[in-house]
Amino acid sequence: MLLSFIAVQINLSFSSIPSSLTTINVDGYFSFTNNEFAAKDYGNQYQFLPLAVLHPKSVSDIALTVKHVWELGSSSELTVAARGHGHSIQGQAQAHRGVVINMESLKTPKMHFHIGDLPYVDVSGGELWIDILHESLKYGLTPKSWTDYLHLTVGGTLSNAGISGQAFRQGPQISNVHQLEVVTGKGEVVTCSAKQNADLFSGVLGGLGQYGIITRARISLEPATQMVKWIRVVYSDFSTFTRDQEHLIASENTFDYIEGLVLVNKTGLLNNWRSSFNPKDDDQASEFKSEGRTLFCLELAKNFNPDKIDEANLKVTPLKRVRQSGAEIKYAAQETFLEESKFEL
Ligand SMILES: Cc1cc2nc3c(=O)[nH]c(=O)nc-3n(C[C@H](O)[C@H](O)[C@H](O)COP(=O)(O)OP(=O)(O)OC[C@H]3O[C@@H](n4cnc5c(N)ncnc54)[C@H](O)[C@@H]3O)c2cc1C
Repeated sequence: MLLSFIAVQINLSFSSIPSSLTTINVDGYFSFTNNEFAAKDYGNQYQFLPLAVLHPKSVSDIALTVKHVWELGSSSELTVAARGHGHSIQGQAQAHRGVVINMESLKTPKMHFHIGDLPYVDVSGGELWIDILHESLKYGLTPKSWTDYLHLTVGGTLSNAGISGQAFRQGPQISNVHQLEVVTGKGEVVTCSAKQNADLFSGVLGGLGQYGIITRARISLEPATQMVKWIRVVYSDFSTFTRDQEHLIASENTFDYIEGLVLVNKTGLLNNWRSSFNPKDDDQASEFKSEGRTLFCLELAKNFNPDKIDEANLKVTPLKRVRQSGAEIKYAAQETFLEESKFEL
């Protein structure tokens, strides 16, 4: 988050700023050296070194710091950025000669579950989704909407959107949040929801970190199933692929997860289909060659409990049938893969 502030003090030099930060009475701590980690992200394109990193132990640490920077005014040119897991790719979580707030340090209060007809969990903005999944499963529950990769923070994905194969039914992650606690640009701690401080709520969700720092989120949950039927279908023709995907998304009695992706055609595709490589590793990079055309993959999943296995099979059978008849859905039959597995973490 980059916040600009009104001037209250003129000619404040950069070098005096760290000492001004040390006057803030925080429960956590500021680091002024060894902050290189905060100048890196997943994209590896931008490296902006901050002057300081706050490792907050409480929401008040964040509020006091943002308030302090706000009161310094814009002439300090000091910017503030919340950093989640640093998996953005264009320096969004970096602050050039500013203050980075390391949100993963904010672990308290602990996750709090509400079990009932409409279950939810209150979590810190720096919590990783993988940890929320682990804790939720202890109650037989799960968040409704995901990203593919779960080592991302709540604040990081909620300031974007949080999209995966459940979004066509449940909406993205930002549509599955009941309430937020936010530190605003003036350092105030504000609770917001669709009914309370609604402008702030809708601004922060998907707000790219520009409208406030998410310190707490109330995430909607649903009962978790024990099994999943997982199907991947590979296409060589883009129009057939998109037509099938749209058909499945629009169908009433459909899958719980539908996602499409583009693949480079290579041997062993189905066993190693989500290929990635480090461009600096020549050996890995040379293996990432297409042996032909680009392919397209539909990834589908049906969640079920063991006592409902017949129901799950019924949902999958019509897909096999249309495939065989070559009617509605045209899969590349030899490239269809089906696996039934237990959820394991
Ligand atoms: C391998 C990989 C897989 C991915 N898969 C998916 C996917 O399936 N679906 C999807 O939707 N996205 C996906 N993404 C993108 C990812 O969701 C975003 O990059 C997300 O912002 C990363 O979260 P983070 O915790 O690393 O945030 P960071 O990169 O640390 O921060 C991202 C932005 O959010 C802001 N921010 C961080 N914390 C807060 C907070 N508490 N309050 C306010 N603002 C905050 C930062 O200032 C910055 O602007 C993927 C990224 C990678 C690298």
